[in-house]
Parts: sequence; C-alpha cells; structure tokens
Amino acid sequence: QAKRNEHLRHAWFESDYETRTKERLDIIRRLRQAVNAGELMLWYQPQMNLQTGKVEALEGLLRWRDSGRFVSPATFIPLAEYSGLINEIGSSVIDTACAQLKQFSEQEIDVRIAINISMQQFRKDDFSHNIHQQMAHHGIDPTKLELEVTESVVMDDPKSVINILEELQSLGVKVAIDDFGTGYSSLSYLKQLPLNAIKIDRAFVCEIEQPEVASIVEMIISLAARLGLTVIAEGIETPSQGVRLKSLGCHLGQGFLIAKPMPIEKIMEYLQSNPNCPFN
Ligand code: C2E
Ligand code: MG
Ligand code: MG
Ligand code: MG
Repeated sequence: QAKRNEHLRHAWFESDYETRTKERLDIIRRLRQAVNAGELMLWYQPQMNLQTGKVEALEGLLRWRDSGRFVSPATFIPLAEYSGLINEIGSSVIDTACAQLKQFSEQEIDVRIAINISMQQFRKDDFSHNIHQQMAHHGIDPTKLELEVTESVVMDDPKSVINILEELQSLGVKVAIDDFGTGYSSLSYLKQLPLNAIKIDRAFVCEIEQPEVASIVEMIISLAARLGLTVIAEGIETPSQGVRLKSLGCHLGQGFLIAKPMPIEKIMEYLQSNPNCPFN
C-alpha cells in the first residue's frame, strides 16, 4: 500500500510538473505574439516628494492584457527572462520611456521616468551603449531617465557592475536600487557603488508601525543621507505609513495611497490636476 501511494504521489507530481511546464510554454508563446504585435503597455505610477507634494518621477510598469485579462509582470517577466524575450521587451520599454520623456519636455512637464531593468539586460555588453543611443535618438535629457535594478543585480558581483554603473553615471542617467532590504546586500558595498537612489521595499513600509521596523528604516534613511542617496518608499497604502515615512525624512513615496499605476492618458490628467500629498 505504501509503495502504491508513493507511486501515485510520484505520478501526480510528474503530471503537475508537466502541466505547469506546458502552461509556461503557452504563456511564452502568447507573450511572444503580444510582443510582436506591440500589445505590451507601459503604465505609470507617480513618485511624490513627501515633503513638498510634488510628483518628481513616474515609474513605468509593464502591463499585458492577454485575452481580456491582465497577466502580472511578476508572472511574465521571469518567463520573458527565461525565454530571452526580455531583451526585446526591455529595449522597447527604454524606447517608450525616452519617447514619453521627449513629449514631456516638449510640453514643459518636469518629471523623470524610472524604468525597471532586469539582470540579463543590465549585464549585456552593450547595455550602457544602448541606453546612450536610445537617449540620443530621442534627444532627451539623460538626467530625466532613471533605471531601477534590484539588489541582486548589483550585489551578485559588485566589482563587475561598478564599471557599468560608472558608465551610466557618466551618461548622467540615474540608477536606483529596487526592493532594497530584501536581498543580501552588504551595506558596506553600498558606499562603493555609484548610485543615486534606493527604494525601500514594500515589506518594510507595510510594517513601519512596528518600532523595530521603523528603526531599520530610520537607519537606512540616515545611511542613504550620508551617502548622498535619494530614498523612495514603495507601497505606501495608509496615511499613517506616509506620515511615519515623512517624519523619518524619506524623500519620495510611491503607493496606492498616492496613486495606482495608470495608462499614460490618465497620468496626464493626474499631473494636470495638481495632486496634493494625500496625508497632512
Ligand atoms: P517593482 O519594480 O518593485 O514595482 C512595484 C510593484 O508594486 C508594482 O507591481 C506596483 O504596481 C506595485 N505597487 C505599487 N504601489 C503599491 C501598493 O501600495 N501596494 C501594493 N500591494 N503594491 C503596490 P507590478 O506592476 O505588478 O510589477 C511587479 C514587478 O514586475 C515590478 O516590481 C518589477 O520588478 C517587474 N516589472 C514591471 N515592469 C517591468 C519592466 O518594464 N521591466 C522589468 N524588467 N521588470 C518589470
Ligand atoms: Mg521598480
Ligand atoms: Mg520594488
Ligand atoms: Mg519588486
């Protein structure tokens, strides 16, 4: 009986694995079609200065509607990385962001755009060259473009990324560490890396009311200040979280409380509505 159960369990896992593999391959196939058809969209979420209420930047976040339903980037980005589609997707995100920045500058709208860069993209030999070319092609001010990379991208092999970061700094582009605090970064490396900003992960923000979490965030903010880095808090959902972060001296905030990610038309309306900080 035990043996039989073992066998059944094995068979079940196997078919489950097979199903999931088929599902993944199917998503990749549909993603490829969507990429070729130009169906992926870049939505934008504001990053607001918590001290002044000014929207200083917008984070571009990919949206893919697959037969009527949105598929989360948390699902399709890893598959895009696995399949190699990320290079094409990533380069179209850079192109879209640069084109949008060009429009903003023509309309005299003063805002930066931050885009997410995955490890594979960042580590490609010609990454900073491509960034330079796309910015030059659109004729944009490089200081308006910000690249968000996760901790693992820079901490995995800090020595080898220093070169890339230095190239990006010399172009004038800004670089932020995304999801800060969730990886295994050694804080001592932070001072060796030419960066501009860190984004405190939502995991800290949603627990900021706990005193221990607040002290960690306080420490991150003071370290960042000493290193001359801007601090952005991700995932602010309640006024008390916002008030807390503001009083700790956090520069920028992003989250559903301020605004959700929106398509470009909606973001234009939002920017024109002169938004205020939704707490105090
Ligand atoms: P991320 O860069 O850390 O982006 C922040 C995520 O938090 C976004 O999820 C955003 O919609 C969500 N968010 C913002 N405010 C709140 C809030 O108050 N509460 C909660 N619960 N969530 C909030 P999204 O858009 O689903 O993206 C997930 C991840 O997918 C991103 O995390 C990023 O790592 C990746 N991603 C999205 N777009 C791109 C892209 O163009 N390229 C690459 N390589 N990755 C991307
Ligand atoms: Mg991000
Ligand atoms: Mg993040
Ligand atoms: Mg994330």
